[in-house]
Amino acid sequence: MEASEADPSHGGAPKRGMSLPTKILLGLIVGALVGVTLNLLYAPQLGAPKSESFIAVEWWADQVIKPFGDLFLRLLFMVVVPIVFCSLFLGVSGLGSVEKIGALGSRTLAWFLSTTVVAAILGIALVRLIEPGKNVSPETVERIREQYGTITQTKIEQSAAAKGWLQMLVDFVPTNVVGAAGDNKSILGLIIFALILGAAATRVAPHKTQVLRDLLEGLYELCIKVLSWVMEFAPIGVACLIFHATAMLGVDVMKLVGWYFVTAMGGLIFYQVVVITVLARVFAGLSPGRFYRGIRTLLVTAFSTSSSNATMPTTIRTAVDEFGAPKEIAGFVMPLGATMNMNGTAVFEGVVVLFLAQVYGSDLGLAQQAMVVGFSVLIAVGAAGVPGGSIPLLAIVLTQVGVPPEFLALILGVDRLVDMTRTVPNVCSDLVCSLWLSRREGHKLR
Ligand code: ASP
Repeated sequence: MEASEADPSHGGAPKRGMSLPTKILLGLIVGALVGVTLNLLYAPQLGAPKSESFIAVEWWADQVIKPFGDLFLRLLFMVVVPIVFCSLFLGVSGLGSVEKIGALGSRTLAWFLSTTVVAAILGIALVRLIEPGKNVSPETVERIREQYGTITQTKIEQSAAAKGWLQMLVDFVPTNVVGAAGDNKSILGLIIFALILGAAATRVAPHKTQVLRDLLEGLYELCIKVLSWVMEFAPIGVACLIFHATAMLGVDVMKLVGWYFVTAMGGLIFYQVVVITVLARVFAGLSPGRFYRGIRTLLVTAFSTSSSNATMPTTIRTAVDEFGAPKEIAGFVMPLGATMNMNGTAVFEGVVVLFLAQVYGSDLGLAQQAMVVGFSVLIAVGAAGVPGGSIPLLAIVLTQVGVPPEFLALILGVDRLVDMTRTVPNVCSDLVCSLWLSRREGHKLR
């Protein structure tokens, strides 16, 4: 790929004035400031009727601002399916042999598994240390449940639609590839198809697949071009997304479950700032300064979209353009990581399950905690990389450890912000994994 020629979104060659990452950051700050201010001024107390001013804020946020945020999100999603298919097919077929794919694949899975387990254990340990559930009174639980009962019910119904774990694995294999590509929530089917097709391409005479390879290479480059156009719109899109999230944030609920919020956010920030930074240093050889300079756009995109899938094309570009990772490796790891590797989500799950169990008054034993770690891995694989993708599966885990899933109501009011924050380590772990593998294969990172 011609590296970011005249492409300012990664900080290279700003045309004039502010660089794009700075503009995106500015959009984030302005959107958040306006949203938080309006929320603090007008949002009603829990259970109190809404004032006219808040109804007006809600109308503006939903009818005017949100559509622009959604437009940005949809434009990002629009290129995800072709990029997943092209990059996986080209990545896998470019590796040359099934043995090489197997070796790279098993290292990738080992990374996903071990980092997810560490993350879930961290979440659990934090709850045991801070005990955020011990000071939530039964009245608080009742008040929040009344307020968030309907949304919680929807999530529980979604989880009921989920089948057994084994059936979930069977369903990963699509019966219709076109259908599998039709929905951003289930791109795992498309991933499996692209992987198998790419592997098959290594067993067919090269001249027979050359035309297809050239075609997909062209399509991939076009999508990356489109992505750079979409990112030009990011400062506005990000501002709109963050404005909506903060203006509608349940600050009152945040106070009621304040210790949960502090524990979850503290765990996620610790995981990002300490664990991911150390992993980048040790496995990718990048100093914290170099690493964070390179991922500015990635950070803001993940945070504002709350979606690993929507961020995935940006994650690939960051690895290739910013750090010089080869396209085959980035194109192989990132689509898999966006769907299967969610470290932030695992920290969050550890915290939520133990917190809700504490509120419910059931102290989970060691065996049940180990179960939570196991489930975290399954959820990381099964949850869609979309906003709130892990919540329905979380309802299943709660049921399994004997906590009523209705208790999810307690965390839903503040989940948007936690979701935005957990998406950041979700994508950073994929990035570091691809950089580690690139280095292992003898590529020099920039
Ligand atoms: N929003 C997260 C992601 O896309 C998934 C989740 O934890 O709900 O990575």
